[in-house]
Amino acid sequence: MARVLVVEDDAGIRTSLVDALALHGHTARGVGGAFPALHEVAGGRLDLVVLDLGLPDLDGGDALRMIRGISQVPVIVATARDGDDEMIELLNAGADDYLVKPFSGGQLAARVAAVLRRSAAGAGPHAEQSGTPAETEPKTSGLLTVGDLQVDPVGRTAYLAGAELPLTRREFDLLAYLAAHAGQVVPKRTILAEVWRESYIDDQTIDVHLSSLRRKMGEPAARPRYLRTVRGVGIKLVTPR
Ligand code: CA
Repeated sequence: MARVLVVEDDAGIRTSLVDALALHGHTARGVGGAFPALHEVAGGRLDLVVLDLGLPDLDGGDALRMIRGISQVPVIVATARDGDDEMIELLNAGADDYLVKPFSGGQLAARVAAVLRRSAAGAGPHAEQSGTPAETEPKTSGLLTVGDLQVDPVGRTAYLAGAELPLTRREFDLLAYLAAHAGQVVPKRTILAEVWRESYIDDQTIDVHLSSLRRKMGEPAARPRYLRTVRGVGIKLVTPR
């Protein structure tokens, strides 16, 4: 049977899903947030992840993309919303299947069985020590790489040209968020909502952290290489040309 990780911040739901999976013969464990989930995924040894999209520490879509950055483990997303567009986006982002809340433990077990059947058929044996190390040991960390910049969201470290950047917690969170969305212009409003999660913070706070981040990265103030400000729109982390 399978080793399943249930990522769900509601302790009651988490327990009932873990229990239901155990009842169906799986070895199931639960965690309450995306960062602990990334730790588990980085450690390998999972056959499937059930990922709630409404998590307190990271947007569910970002959590999914970060998981996909480090592992091919099958992921079933659980969401309270069932818009078609969102589902298509999630499936494109690497979800193997989805369930719309509320669902029963039995429904989850059936979906888990179906996804495991598909992944076994598609990718061959997924748990045993066969195949190349790259396939069986997905622990080559979840580094987000942009040019010479490397961000490790699990270890919470960032390196520029091999040298570790001495970042504060917020600076790291800001850089990691931008790295996860590299090449996209991220509006300051989005940064406030996703990185700060506090409504009383204003744009200036972002600017202060951004200039500190630029200084630590040795960015020329006039022509930043990585951290571009798109005036009136937001901030974009890019690969320098
Ligand atoms: Ca939730």
